[in-house]
Amino acid sequence: MTIQENFSLKNYNTFGVNVSATYFAEVSSVDELVEILKNDDFSTLPLLFLGGGSNILFTKDFDGLVIQLHLKGISEEIPDENSVLVTTKAGENWHEFVQFCLLKDYGGLENLSLIPGNVGTSPMQNIGAYGTEIKDTFVSCRVLNLENLEVEIFDKEKCRFGYRDSIFKQEGKGKYVILDVTFKLTSKNHTVRTDYGAIKSELEKLGIANPTIHEVSKAVINIRQSKLPDPKVTGNAGSFFKNPTIPLEQFVDVQKKFPEIANYPNGNMVKVPAGWLIEQCGWKGKQIGNVASHELQALVIVNKTGNASGKEIFDFSTMIIDSVKEKFGIDLEREVNII
Ligand SMILES: Cc1cc2nc3c(=O)[nH]c(=O)nc-3n(C[C@H](O)[C@H](O)[C@H](O)COP(=O)(O)OP(=O)(O)OC[C@H]3O[C@@H](n4cnc5c(N)ncnc54)[C@H](O)[C@@H]3O)c2cc1C
Repeated sequence: MTIQENFSLKNYNTFGVNVSATYFAEVSSVDELVEILKNDDFSTLPLLFLGGGSNILFTKDFDGLVIQLHLKGISEEIPDENSVLVTTKAGENWHEFVQFCLLKDYGGLENLSLIPGNVGTSPMQNIGAYGTEIKDTFVSCRVLNLENLEVEIFDKEKCRFGYRDSIFKQEGKGKYVILDVTFKLTSKNHTVRTDYGAIKSELEKLGIANPTIHEVSKAVINIRQSKLPDPKVTGNAGSFFKNPTIPLEQFVDVQKKFPEIANYPNGNMVKVPAGWLIEQCGWKGKQIGNVASHELQALVIVNKTGNASGKEIFDFSTMIIDSVKEKFGIDLEREVNII
C-alpha cells in the first residue's frame, strides 16, 4: 500500500473539481485498511472514504487522509431453487455488478442499471431509480466499526433505509466503513417492474411487449443516456437535491397557486418533484459563471466549463434553494455529500 501526499482528487470526483487531499491511500484488503487506521501517523487526522466519487462535492482541499476502497470480489450462495444470495465487495463498480447479475440471469437490480459509483456506497443513500431501491433486494452488509475496528453485520432493519437515506447518513455517519453487501436476487420467475417513469414507452419504442430483465435494463440504460449528462463529458453528481416531502396542508396551499404540480401522496405527507420546482423558478439550463443547471433535467447541476470550483457549485445550489423557498415556501435538501 502506498500513501501519496498532496494528491489531486480531480479525477476522483465526478464533478471534476480540482482539490487535493493531504494524504491519499488505496487499500485492497480489510487487513490493509485496519493497518492504516492503526498507524499513529494518520490516526488523528480527518478521514474520508471514497468510492466512485459520484455523490460528493468537495468545496475545499481535504486536510486529512482519503482512503479509496479497492476491495474486489463477488461470491454466491444458493438458499433455495428460486433465489441466489450474492455478496459483493465494496470496491466493485455498481453498474458492472448489475451487468454481472444480468449475465447470470439474476433478477432484481435491472432497474438500477447505469447508476455510477461503487457497491460499497449503495447502502449509504439506499440508491434508487425507476421504482426500485436497493432495500428491495438488500439482505445485509458487513461494516468495520471505526471506534473499535471490529467487523459487524448490519441487516436491513439496522440500516434503517429511507428515501435516499440510511443510518450511514444519520447517526452512523463517519462511524462505519461498508466492506461488502449481500443481495437476495431471483434466479428464476423474475418479476419485472415497468410501471415507473418512461420504461413502458421506451419498451414500446423498442417493440417489446413482454420484457425480460435484460430488456428492462436496456430500456433503463437508453432513458438514462438520453436525459442525464455523462460525468466523463460534463462534471455532475446526478440529482443534486432530494425530492421534498411536505405536509398535506402545505401541499394543498401550493396546489391552489400551481394546480399543475405533480405529487405523490403518502399518508399525511406528499412528495413533490424537486426538478419541477427548480424549473418553475427559471433555473433549467441557466448558467452562472462555470456552473449550470442541466438543460434536460433541472435537478442536475453541472460543471459546465469544467473549471468550476466546489465553492461555486455549492453557492449555485444555495441560490436554487433560496429561490424555491421564496416561490413555493418549500425547503430543498441536498442529496450530494458536501465536504
Ligand atoms: C450521472 C449520475 C446519475 C446518478 N443517478 C443516481 C440514481 O439514479 N439514483 C441514486 O440513488 N443515485 C444516483 N447518483 C448518485 C451516485 O451515483 C450514488 O449515490 C452512488 O451510490 C455513489 O457512489 P460512489 O461510490 O460514487 O460514492 P462516493 O461519492 O465516493 O461517496 C459518497 C459518500 O459515501 C461515503 N462512502 C463511500 N464509500 C463508502 C464505504 N464503503 N463505507 C462508508 N462510506 C462510504 C463517502 O465518504 C461519501 O460521503 C447518480 C450520480 C451521477 C453522477
